[in-house]
Amino acid sequence: MKELFDLLENLTNISSPAGYEEKIRSFIRQEAEAFGEELFVDALGNLVVAKRNPAGKKILLAAHMDEIGLMVTFVEENGFLRFSEIGGINKEILLGTRVIFSDGTAGIIGRDKIREKEDAGFSRYYIDIGATSRDEALKRVKIGQTATFYPVFHRMGSRVTAKSLDNRAGCALLLQVLKNVPSSLPNEVYFVFTTQEEVGLRGARTVSYELNPDYGLAVDVTRTGDTPEPEFKMDMFLGKGPAIKIKDSSVICHPTVVQRMVQTAERMHNPYQLEVLERGGTDAGSIHLARGGVPSGALSIPCRYLHTPGEMVDLADVEGGISLLVELLKEKW
Ligand SMILES: [Zn+2]
Repeated sequence: MKELFDLLENLTNISSPAGYEEKIRSFIRQEAEAFGEELFVDALGNLVVAKRNPAGKKILLAAHMDEIGLMVTFVEENGFLRFSEIGGINKEILLGTRVIFSDGTAGIIGRDKIREKEDAGFSRYYIDIGATSRDEALKRVKIGQTATFYPVFHRMGSRVTAKSLDNRAGCALLLQVLKNVPSSLPNEVYFVFTTQEEVGLRGARTVSYELNPDYGLAVDVTRTGDTPEPEFKMDMFLGKGPAIKIKDSSVICHPTVVQRMVQTAERMHNPYQLEVLERGGTDAGSIHLARGGVPSGALSIPCRYLHTPGEMVDLADVEGGISLLVELLKEKW
C-alpha cells in the first residue's frame, strides 16, 4: 500500500485545473513511460497509452486528470482578486480556503459582508494574495490566471485526505492497472488520461471519436452516503469496495458492460458496490455518445467531501478497483 500512498501524494500535490493539464500530464507520462507502451498526446491534451492488439476488441479506459479550480476575472483597486470557478465549486467551503496559482503565488479566500437573506454569489468572494494595490497585484497575477486548492495530503490509516482525489485517485488506479496487466492482452486497450472533464467531459468527447472504441469504461470518484446526514440518500460507503456504476446524470451504463463487471467481481469474490448517482457525471457520459454510440460503463471510487480541499478515499477501494480492472482486461471482450 505504501507505493499507492506515495503515488497519490505525488498526484494530488500537482496543481492542474481543467484546460491546464501540462503539469499533471508530464508526471503521469513519466510514470507510464516506465512500462514501455506506445504513448501519444492528442490535440486537446489527452494522454493515450495504447496496448495494441488488432485482433481484439478496442476498449477505452478513461480517467480524467484535470481538477476544479479558480480563474481571476478582475483586480480591485486595493489588490483583491475577483474570480470565477472552473468546474463545480461549493461556495460554502470557500471562506478561509488557501489557493495556489500556477506560478506558485499563494492566496487566501475572503468574502464581502453579506446582508441577511442576500445571496453570496461568487462575485462576493475574493482572493487575497497580500498585495496592497491593483498595480502590485497585477505584477504577480494576470487576468485569466488559474489557481487550485492548496495541496495538503494526510494519511489516516487506510484512508487519505487531499485535494483533487477527484480524480487523481482514478489516475493512480489506472496507472497501477497498467503496471499490473500482462504484457499481452486479448483486447486492444487504450489507457487514456483525459482533459477538461470538470467543465463538461470535453477531452473524453474528442478522444473517443478519435480512437473509435468498441467499449468504454470511465474510472472516476463518486459521492458517498455514509456521513451523519448526507445531502442525498445513497447506498455508497467508504471502504466497502469499488463501485460499479449503473447510472448518473450523464450516462445509463450499458447492461452488457455492467453485467460483465458484476460477474467478474463475483467470480473473484472481490467486494463491490452498485452505484446510482443522482447528481453528477463522468467521462462515460461523453464516450457512450461518440460516433454511432459506444457501450460504456464506469468503475467508481467512493469519495467523501467531493470538490472540497479535503476529499477522502479509502485505499482498500482503490486496490479493489485495481484488481477488478486487471481481471476484466484479461478476459476477451
Ligand atoms: Zn471526477
